[in-house]
Amino acid sequence: MRYTALIGLGSNLHSPINQLTSAIHTISGHKCIQLIKQSSFYQSLPQGPQDQDLFINAVIVVETTLKPKELLLALQEIESKQGKVKLRHWGERCIDLDILFIDQLTLRLKSPDLIVPHPHALNRDFVLIPTLEIAPEWLLPDKSPLKNYLSACLKHDLKVLTLDTKSP
Ligand code: ADP
Ligand code: MG
Repeated sequence: MRYTALIGLGSNLHSPINQLTSAIHTISGHKCIQLIKQSSFYQSLPQGPQDQDLFINAVIVVETTLKPKELLLALQEIESKQGKVKLRHWGERCIDLDILFIDQLTLRLKSPDLIVPHPHALNRDFVLIPTLEIAPEWLLPDKSPLKNYLSACLKHDLKVLTLDTKSP
C-alpha cells in the first residue's frame, strides 16, 4: 500500500531555514519515503504567544509505503534528532512536522496520537497557502476542494521567501 501525504513543516528557533532544509533532506533520504514536491518557504507570524520569533513554514508532498502511524513515528524521530523540545503550547520550536492530509478523498483518522486531516490545517494560512501552491486541486475526504477554505481562513502577514531573502 502506497500513500500520498502532505507534511507541514515549521520552525522559529535555531536557524529555521536550516531546520526545514535539514528535515526535508532527512525525509527524502528515508528508504520508505519519496519526496514528490516542495513548496516555497514562507515567513509567518506566531499564532500563540506573541513574544517569540517569526516562523518559517513550508509544505511537502511525499509518497510513502509507511502506514500513517509509522509515518508519524518517523517524523517524530526526525523532530527529536533535530532537538525538538516543547517549551509551551503554540510556542517556539526548532522543528515541527505535522501530517496534514493523507490521500485526498479517502483518508480520515482519529486516534489519540494521530488526527488526519490535521485539526488546524483548514484555518491556518501558513498551511493552506503553501499546500495550495503545490497541490492546488487537493480534495478533502468530504469531496470539497481545499482551495474553498482559503477565503475563510484568517490571513496574517504571510510572506514568501525569495532566494534573496533566504541568503544570509
Ligand atoms: P503541535 O500541535 O503544536 O504541532 P506537537 O508537535 O508537540 O504540537 O504535537 C503534539 C501531538 O500531536 C503529538 O504528540 C502527536 O501525537 C499529535 N498529533 C495528532 N495528529 C497529528 C498529526 N496529524 N500530525 C502530527 N502530530 C499529530
Ligand atoms: Mg506538531
